[in-house]
Amino acid sequence: MNPAAVDDASRYPAEVDVAIVGSGPTGAAYARILSEEAPGFTIAMFEAGPTVSDPPGAHVKNIEDPARRSAAQRASEGPGAGADTVSSPGAVKSGDRRARPGTFLLDDGYAFPGEDGLPVAAMSTNVGGMSAHWTAACPRPGGSERIAFLPDLDELLDEADRLLGVTTDAFDGSPFGAVVRERLAAVVDDDRAPAARVQRMPLAVHRRADGRLVWSGSDVVLGEATRANPDFELHDESLVTRVLVDDAGRAAGVEVRDRRSGETHTVRARAVVVAGDALRTPQLLWASGIRPPALGRYLNDQAQVVFASRIRDAERLAPAAARDQVAAAGALSEQSGVSWVPFTDDVPFHGQIMQLDASPVPLADDDPVVPGSIVGLGLFCAKDLQPDDRVEFAEDATDAYGMPAMRIHYRLTDRDHAVIDRAREEIVRLGAAVGEPIDSRPFTMPPGASLHYQGTTRMGETDDGESVCTPDSELWSAPGVYVAGNGVIPTATACNPTLTSVALAVRGARRIATSLASK
Ligand code: FAD
Repeated sequence: MNPAAVDDASRYPAEVDVAIVGSGPTGAAYARILSEEAPGFTIAMFEAGPTVSDPPGAHVKNIEDPARRSAAQRASEGPGAGADTVSSPGAVKSGDRRARPGTFLLDDGYAFPGEDGLPVAAMSTNVGGMSAHWTAACPRPGGSERIAFLPDLDELLDEADRLLGVTTDAFDGSPFGAVVRERLAAVVDDDRAPAARVQRMPLAVHRRADGRLVWSGSDVVLGEATRANPDFELHDESLVTRVLVDDAGRAAGVEVRDRRSGETHTVRARAVVVAGDALRTPQLLWASGIRPPALGRYLNDQAQVVFASRIRDAERLAPAAARDQVAAAGALSEQSGVSWVPFTDDVPFHGQIMQLDASPVPLADDDPVVPGSIVGLGLFCAKDLQPDDRVEFAEDATDAYGMPAMRIHYRLTDRDHAVIDRAREEIVRLGAAVGEPIDSRPFTMPPGASLHYQGTTRMGETDDGESVCTPDSELWSAPGVYVAGNGVIPTATACNPTLTSVALAVRGARRIATSLASK
């Protein structure tokens, strides 16, 4: 592995078997599966942003020193570095357009008159992508969230769990987790199948022997199998400006701009994986002249409703001695327990219930917060999918990286508004079940706040013009070019999508392994 490649014109190979664009968890999943299943294949991964953590791609929350952690977040914010950020979703309530740390927003083109737009659509530009900054919730899709034409979806999700290092017990030592789940279950679980009942949130996080939490980023997805692969190279500060195809329309390589020297090079490749996120993957394809009709369309974000409550009887339930013990063991952190209320087709919201050690709204000075007793409730809603919700690209304007500027057209339908209204009622009911509401009413986040954008390079069972890629993530219109990331998900999901998009990447990587081996 070559994370600190030398600054000279020859840092890129002339030719590889597989070129991967983007070092987020889905690009990393391709590198990992290929390293495991296709030893001997040469793989080059190109990442536009800098390396901000060690091992490369590691979550910045694992950086103990606050100043270094903050510097890593800033270095991930691309053209937005230096702008004010907000640290928790609940805090976006002011209506300001502010990004979460480690991410940046679009300067313009995020909304048009008469449309809702995606005012807080965000991106990260760093080795690890958003997975260096994420919350790491990895629920499985259920009901209509699932991709019905993939018979092997569950096995792929198992693999994604393995790659992301998903656990359910990292917060078992935290106070009140069981209380929260018990109280939620009492008002939710009736008539639900076991898989859809209230439960611990699967999280890509584990606890070390010394008690410290380790959050998974792309470093965990890459794993030792990739880091030890002598045929794998990671090139940071390397922007891919074009995917190259041959005269027959097949993958031929990439054009990459070394952001240190400013020089552009060509790297030939037998397969190209574009894993640049749901906005920049279609951007790069469009810039390359690869423009299938569904490209950028069916864009969907999960409308998000938030509310806060305070656990009833917290003082009585957590005697001081037990709280001190928990704090000494380091079980508490920015959030100290996450519970899951799964999506169902009848109740079409995904609930992410986080226990916090600080209140998102000011409490009286003489009102100390029992750690873990503040409960931040979030419900994510599945979007009513429409082809006209889309990201387009300008012929005559560029973004801060010199790539075609994005123009987002996005509307919430009457059905979306009805679902959001229902979610607002439901979240108040859940908040009251857990404890005493802190907020006077729920807050609906501005579109884009979920950080879960999907559909723009969607997968389809057949090439019917409504999808961009095959069930193996290979472009219908450019064999050998694969797409990865949340943009590939064709369904309207409400659950956090990364586990699903890593699962889809596993399938694509296996396809590359077998198809290139046979040539
Ligand atoms: P990304 O992680 O976005 O990585 C894409 C990378 O590609 C970027 O580093 C970018 O710089 C690079 N790139 C783009 N274009 C080019 C180019 N032309 N050349 C070279 N490089 C390029 N998801 C969940 O499922 N659960 C959660 O709990 C959750 N919480 C989140 C909390 C926060 C604060 C944030 C920021 C995100 C959260 N997400 C969560 C979203 C999750 O992080 C993303 O779904 C996931 O990282 C997407 O992976 P990806 O590989 O598709 O893209």
